[in-house]
Amino acid sequence: MNQLLENILENCRKYTKDGKLASYIPELQKTDPEKLGICVVTDENALYTAGDSDIRFTMQSAIKPIILLLALMDRGEEEVRKLVGVESTGKPFDAFNYSDQALKREHINPMINAGAIALCTLIDGETYDEKFDRLLKLVQKLANNPKMEIDENVYQSEKRTGSKNRALAYMLQAYGLIHDQVEQVLDCYFKACSVLASSVDLAKIALVFAKKGKLSSGEQVFSKEYAKYINAVLMTCGMYDGSGEFALNVGVPAKSGVGGGIMAIVPNRMGIGIYSPALDSKGNSCAGIKSLELLSKELDLSIF
Ligand code: GLU
Repeated sequence: MNQLLENILENCRKYTKDGKLASYIPELQKTDPEKLGICVVTDENALYTAGDSDIRFTMQSAIKPIILLLALMDRGEEEVRKLVGVESTGKPFDAFNYSDQALKREHINPMINAGAIALCTLIDGETYDEKFDRLLKLVQKLANNPKMEIDENVYQSEKRTGSKNRALAYMLQAYGLIHDQVEQVLDCYFKACSVLASSVDLAKIALVFAKKGKLSSGEQVFSKEYAKYINAVLMTCGMYDGSGEFALNVGVPAKSGVGGGIMAIVPNRMGIGIYSPALDSKGNSCAGIKSLELLSKELDLSIF
């Protein structure tokens, strides 16, 4: 397997040149766009790596499945469904424009910013610091890595410049989808996006989702039903508006982030973590997607 991963990276390294670093969070531009790393952890806990698999990067949107998970664990499916939908576009079949007159729960899903910001309000905790701490602890537990922490510079950078997310959060407030103080909710979301992880961390987290909530120690951290819920949402909405292509060419639930990470879940078989920060026009890691396409072909990973 190590050799296979090496070969895949060798084949896909050229694609790092096709993409661009995310620039709307200024701090993310300080990264080397040519890095590429991969980790695979199998259901028997065999761990394989190649390339820059131990470089740490901010999870960004790759933390959204865990925000959804904690909201489900804390409040249950009914309350989560009352706040956010599960449709990738939330538009009817004959929709011809996006000028909705209202923002409703069925317009947002947990894998877009508005949905993830809204779900931060469902995490239990007296304060937003406490909610974030509980989220970080859950991420650490899933990755079996108590050292995971936030990148203070990226967090501050996004907090300073996150006008779009601020606008989204105020829209959510205006339409009654969040009731807490916008800046506090956003602070929790920005911190969540700034959690540092390596490809190894992402692969280990992905494996827990692949094993439907079971850690390698045998502990069941969350129910199979939540794993099914999250994997299904990831399948249709996890790769931004590249989710359809990804379903065709890779065929497994996955979540990407603008930090360049992708976490891919092969149900019952393996967790995969990839890092390569040069992004395509949809915001997905160029070389990361190509690597997953090859790996999926080689190991017949598609669930379809
Ligand atoms: N922190 C980023 C934002 O909210 C995450 C976006 C992403 O990775 O898709 O804009």
